[in-house]
Amino acid sequence: MAELFPYFPRQNQNEIMEEITDAIRHKRQFIFESGTGSGKTICVLSAALAYALDNHKKIIYTTRTNAQQQQVIHELRAIQKKSNDKRIYGVGMQGRGNMCLLARENQEIQNGNAEELSRFCSYQKKLAVSEKRKGCRYYHDFLGEKDRVGTIMEWAQKHLPTAEEFTEACEKQALCPYEINKLMVHNALVVIVPYVYVFDKTIRIKLFDWLSISEDDVILIIDEAHNLPDYLRELFSAELSTWMLNSCLLEADQFGDPSLADGRISVSAFCKELMDIVNVLRDTYVYGVLEGGIRSINPEKNDALIPSHELEVEILSRLKTTSKTLRDIISDLYAYGEKIQEYKQKDGKLPRSYLHNLGVFLGFWTSIEMDQYIKLVVDTGQGKNPRVEAYCLDPSMGTDILKEVHCSIHMSGTLEPLDEYRDSLGLPLETRMAIYPSPFPPENRKIFFVCDVTTQYNELTKDRTIVPQMWKYVSDICNKFEKNTMVSFPSYNTLAIFQRNGYFAEIQRCLYIEEQHMSQSDLMELVSEFKSCGDGNGNSAALFTVMGGRISEGMDFPAEQLEIAVIVGIPYPKPTARQRGLQNYYDQKFGKGWEYTVQAPAARKMLQAIGRLIRNENDRGVAVILDKRAPRFHQYIKEMRESKDILRDISRFMNQQGSSNS
Ligand code: SF4
Repeated sequence: MAELFPYFPRQNQNEIMEEITDAIRHKRQFIFESGTGSGKTICVLSAALAYALDNHKKIIYTTRTNAQQQQVIHELRAIQKKSNDKRIYGVGMQGRGNMCLLARENQEIQNGNAEELSRFCSYQKKLAVSEKRKGCRYYHDFLGEKDRVGTIMEWAQKHLPTAEEFTEACEKQALCPYEINKLMVHNALVVIVPYVYVFDKTIRIKLFDWLSISEDDVILIIDEAHNLPDYLRELFSAELSTWMLNSCLLEADQFGDPSLADGRISVSAFCKELMDIVNVLRDTYVYGVLEGGIRSINPEKNDALIPSHELEVEILSRLKTTSKTLRDIISDLYAYGEKIQEYKQKDGKLPRSYLHNLGVFLGFWTSIEMDQYIKLVVDTGQGKNPRVEAYCLDPSMGTDILKEVHCSIHMSGTLEPLDEYRDSLGLPLETRMAIYPSPFPPENRKIFFVCDVTTQYNELTKDRTIVPQMWKYVSDICNKFEKNTMVSFPSYNTLAIFQRNGYFAEIQRCLYIEEQHMSQSDLMELVSEFKSCGDGNGNSAALFTVMGGRISEGMDFPAEQLEIAVIVGIPYPKPTARQRGLQNYYDQKFGKGWEYTVQAPAARKMLQAIGRLIRNENDRGVAVILDKRAPRFHQYIKEMRESKDILRDISRFMNQQGSSNS
């Protein structure tokens, strides 16, 4: 292990590597928290590789986002350079949405989901083999140009490119990167993949096939593990919106509006009934209808639980039919959808069928086990696109694989309370868990909170002076200190309250604001401009963002790129019906609904935002939590202190910085 670690290890890195090695040797699950920037990736790779090399195992390293793969590749390169061992060879895999060259040429195809792209690709490959000059040309050349494929593979084995670099290299050679990647995975010791490759069973079967190994030979690493429970809940949930039903209507119109269940009803009539049912469910359960048919609209309420069989009962009663006929309708939708998929596929289009998706949804909806789900009607678009949703409460539904692999290592900078994570995923009680203290000098980071403001809804509506007072804190901090400052809000809605009130004009700094639906490239440009302001030459800037978003959870701001973090209120989850359902489920299962589903997620979001400040031992930074409820989080943020004069306290910290630097 020491032979592979490419840097001079800190004391706690040695401890982490020993624990990981012990867990792997004893085939035990290991969950650990170690602060952001503490070198978790290099520790886990060094320890797991040492074992894998000696014991003929392979490593699957999972990340939440594609961007997080890059760090893993960089560390692998450092290990390969230090060890000079050619067996240390890793491949970054992404979905066809990013790697398929045909999809890159066509926006419609690029927007396809994994299943649609897989189907599209299979057909294109079949054509490329059977009919010359038809089908995918990148696959055709991949099959025919063995030498060029071999050259790229050699180059990749030597240079360990990121998935983006690899795709670019293949594009220059007009060869399919996805197919070459599949070949390389076979010989790779480490495969870096997004969560979906491991937790979606259909995709996992393919991955293990390409790897040619059994589950028992895999060391599984889960990075940024605090995201996994929510990720799994989303993966196993399903929804049906009126937008999707409209798309079904358009599709029915385009394909001759066939009839369902031996002519009982046409597709369009069935979809219209469903659309009406979703609207009625929304009116009844979300809005509430008063006497005289008047809707009582509460802008704060946008979802509600519905009885588990309400949708089916309403369909049966409106169609005056039986469950058997409903099952026939679902089968017919599924079958028509398949035909439409085939037709589109042959036409070179994305094989998407909304009718097929509707059949799949209804089949799922009518068969789910209600003790692990709640059913909801949701309206987050102010009446524009209501939907019904089967929301999965239990992420352990998708974690069988964790029991099948040789061993799994789960790590994050913010995972407390670890028993919540273990219990949510259904890991055994004997799972080894550890929290490692930050390796950086504690005096380099200060965390303050103030006690005269809050974003608590009731108080905000009662006391109109709170928002201006919060803003005064924000603008005073941004204007007084010539330091790059990140201001994080609990949600885009809260950010909008401040923006609407015209407060932003008071900031005498370059101001960058993250918008909710910003494209990834626009977001990267915004962040890079903000970072470039932190050059210490008086050009500092303020970045306004939201906790739990792409910036405050996934981006690094070393040195002067970020020196002050302001947290505007506690990011408690909104008390929606879905959130209450989840809390209730955790209360019943573990007796810890509030702690596991409200308190801990809010703490993690704050810690992630604060964690942007310190990325190495030389970084210094100060965080300020603007909310009187902050002391409730002492268990998670132990070093925070109340400030009675925040500008003075920040000045003191900054002056210490000046003297220590001089
Ligand atoms: Fe896309 Fe490659 Fe499939 Fe061609 S073979 S369709 S380039 S993934």
